[in-house]
Amino acid sequence: MSKPDQFVEIHRNRILEELFSLLRQPSISTRDEGVKECAELLARSMTEVGITTRIFETERHPIVYGEMLREGKPTLLIYGHYDVQPPEPLEEWSSPPFEPVIRGGKIYGRGSSDNKAQLFTYVKAVEALVQSFGSLPLSVKFLFEGEEEIGSPSLKPFAMNNRELLRSDLVVYSDSHIHESGRPLLILGLKGMLYVELRIRTSPRDQHSMRATSIPNPAWRLVWALSALKDRTNRVRIPHFYDKVLPPTPLEREAVSQIPYDEEALRHHFGVKEFLPGRETRHYYMNLVFEPTCNIAGIVSGYIGSGSKTVLPSVASAKVDFRLVPKQDPQEIFGQLQNYLNEEGFEDIEYGTHSMIEPSRTPIDHPAVPLLREAVSRVYGQSPLIFPNIGGSGPNYIFTEILKTPCFVVPHATHDQNNHAPNESMDLEGFFKGIRTGISIMLQLGEGWR
Ligand SMILES: [Zn+2]
Repeated sequence: MSKPDQFVEIHRNRILEELFSLLRQPSISTRDEGVKECAELLARSMTEVGITTRIFETERHPIVYGEMLREGKPTLLIYGHYDVQPPEPLEEWSSPPFEPVIRGGKIYGRGSSDNKAQLFTYVKAVEALVQSFGSLPLSVKFLFEGEEEIGSPSLKPFAMNNRELLRSDLVVYSDSHIHESGRPLLILGLKGMLYVELRIRTSPRDQHSMRATSIPNPAWRLVWALSALKDRTNRVRIPHFYDKVLPPTPLEREAVSQIPYDEEALRHHFGVKEFLPGRETRHYYMNLVFEPTCNIAGIVSGYIGSGSKTVLPSVASAKVDFRLVPKQDPQEIFGQLQNYLNEEGFEDIEYGTHSMIEPSRTPIDHPAVPLLREAVSRVYGQSPLIFPNIGGSGPNYIFTEILKTPCFVVPHATHDQNNHAPNESMDLEGFFKGIRTGISIMLQLGEGWR
């Protein structure tokens, strides 16, 4: 066992106790509960291991920045978020959300896997390396935000105003979860997001349904508009929607074909008879990674209570989300959507947007990929599956598109982590594997970066 790994073993209980202090501190960003206190606690734990730490105020919740620099060495930027989702419904938790406990090899508590334990692995990796060798093998910067669970509103302006402070050779962070089979992952990107609300009002108030001979029905108009968005082979019909989609490279295709996949078991897991086709394939992972989506998240209009009510509604609305792939631009797609529906005769739709996130994907042939693959393999004893991007969305684009820095995600939670749900947990061994992976990554990059 290497010196830093030994250090982690010897200090296992103390490290866990420190993590538990972080988990005991609520940091619910959406209702400003304990977030500032959590930032201060995290900053203290970073300062204690020798990281020069600073708290930056933002319009809502603070950003905790830290650095430990070594001249002439590559710079690794670690990202993470210390805020959490609200814990409700409380009655569904087996133990209180902010009183962490270990049961059956898992650490239970709100924010355990998402994202406190996963970000803390890097703080402890730095401690183990410094205590073992006196210094780090590279420069490390930390960027921990307190707004990820509310869409990271301050992160983009912060990155744009602090380019020099955040300058690095690559960004690595740990979030999400490893494969169900136990294989570790190396994630190179995230999908983008355009979330819109469509609203049609045809009259100031609801009417008797006998007037349906003459009075327009907004629910029909909404259904017609929605049905114009996608055809029955699952292809989005908005003109130019696919124009900028980057076709997968042979290496990316190859990586996705390596992901273990039992279609029948997966269909059974989701309880569906068949999977939708993408433009080219019915392969679950190929489509999850490479296909953009147009999804109706909800529709509301008229009367759906018990019994009947012969009403002609006055208003109808729907929420639609688009998951975007590189290089689709949410702002541009939003314009295309409006143009298209106007041309189709739906000038009466009112639009609202809830979220616009750009997609991100670090090239699979980036020189850091083999270094990170080796670093993860050494700890897990098997090489990571490589996802060119996963199906979810998040702030990766701030690194790849704004700071122009490659970004890699190395998860350590397991797929049953229940993040955002009651009984969130972090795999206990996953946490310690995470610290050892952090150590391994820093050593590998310090040695091998060219
Ligand atoms: Zn989350």
